[in-house]
Amino acid sequence: MSVISNHMPTAELQALDAAHHMHPFTAGDELAAKGVRVITRGKGVWLNDTEGNKIIDAMAGLWCVNIGYGRPELAAAAARQMEELSYYNTFFQTTHVPAIALAAKLAELAPGDLNHVFFAGSGSEANDTNIRLVRRYWAIKGMPNKRTIIGRINGYHGSTMGGASLGGMSGMHEHGGMIDAIAHIGQPHWYAEGGDIRPEEFGLMRARELEEKILELGVANVAAFIGEPVQGAGGVIVPPSTYWPEIQRICDHYGILLIADEVITGFGRTGNWFGCQTMGIKPHIMTVAKGLSSGYQPIGGSIVCDEIAHTVGAAGDFNHGYTYSGHPVAAAVALENLRILQEEKIVDYVRDVANPYFAAKWQALSDHPLVGEAKLVGLMGSIALTPNKATRAKFASPAGTVGYICRERCFANNLIMRHVGDRMIISPALVITPNEIDILIERAWISLDECYTRLNAEGLMVSD
Ligand SMILES: *Cc1c(COP(=O)(O)O)cnc(C)c1O
Repeated sequence: MSVISNHMPTAELQALDAAHHMHPFTAGDELAAKGVRVITRGKGVWLNDTEGNKIIDAMAGLWCVNIGYGRPELAAAAARQMEELSYYNTFFQTTHVPAIALAAKLAELAPGDLNHVFFAGSGSEANDTNIRLVRRYWAIKGMPNKRTIIGRINGYHGSTMGGASLGGMSGMHEHGGMIDAIAHIGQPHWYAEGGDIRPEEFGLMRARELEEKILELGVANVAAFIGEPVQGAGGVIVPPSTYWPEIQRICDHYGILLIADEVITGFGRTGNWFGCQTMGIKPHIMTVAKGLSSGYQPIGGSIVCDEIAHTVGAAGDFNHGYTYSGHPVAAAVALENLRILQEEKIVDYVRDVANPYFAAKWQALSDHPLVGEAKLVGLMGSIALTPNKATRAKFASPAGTVGYICRERCFANNLIMRHVGDRMIISPALVITPNEIDILIERAWISLDECYTRLNAEGLMVSD
């Protein structure tokens, strides 16, 4: 096999990709026929492809490149660590300095008594850890029937069997099924599902579905509730202000463990270190990944409170772990990433500079004839596309038809925005400058205009 380089013609790379590479969440044959886009370089918020395009990445990869692409300090940290100790495990009563240092750092950054870290290779794996951990916890407490974990419809917790089961994506459940003892309640998605009810009232209603579900299943059978402080993959859905305080009250009242899946909302995304601080909640476990290493290395983990860690630790072996739990290279890179986030005061920058600057311009997008609402928390945002702003109507075309058209227009204008159904979402690198925010917004307006023109031409501006 010859060396694959960026200098091969795009068509050859595309043909090889089509022949041998299976893509996640992708219609394989359709992509093979169309030809995949080949990304070659990244710097800051910018990407290059083999066709010479310079693309502004408003998604930070997959919500993960918090400090931006191409920081040489992280490359140096990886090289140093590979030369020193390229790999060792943390199973057999051993450890190494990067895992120790990263665990201690996370305990320092995490709020309250979240002082213990179980490392994984990804967010999905960390959520699998959480399933086993909370079930083990209650079994040790003499309540082996407390096994069911309640998640939310349209929540996202990863793509392993455990992660996909905790999540509430029906399309994922259809492909491969679910594990046992998982239940789901409705999501706090006022824009799409709130009808004429006030958002605050709707937030309370959706939170109280947790109470109903606990009573229906029996409190003796419920181990935990899991939720993203702000739903990400579901469409950047910001819950009404009443939602999380009521969820907290219900978890406290019934003694149910609260798991905050911070895989997206962690490490500055919402303008605080963790989304639970922005939402004012106190979880027993936080799932982390993505921004933990800014995507420079695959690493995730569960940050666990004293009570669970001590209970599980006192009861003999916990029969769980991954070959790459606390991988030294990934841990060293994550540490360097956290150093940069902290020393360059990037979380403060999100809260005090980038969010206020971005929010005004993002909000103005709701003046566009196609946009029903524009939401931004920290640096994660969404806009709802609609044929009728006044009624928040859905399009008559199948969900996602219009979102896909809009995404294609963004792509053509060298802006990476994702669509979830007919919502457009963004989550740029946290280091995005005001000037880059201007460019992003300018390209978003152009893309929305082009999308609007096309919808009108094709008769798609029709309400459901
Ligand atoms: C991405 C994501 C995951 C899964 O993380 P992977 O690293 O892809 O396994 C879990 N939870 C949330 C909230 C995510 O956004």
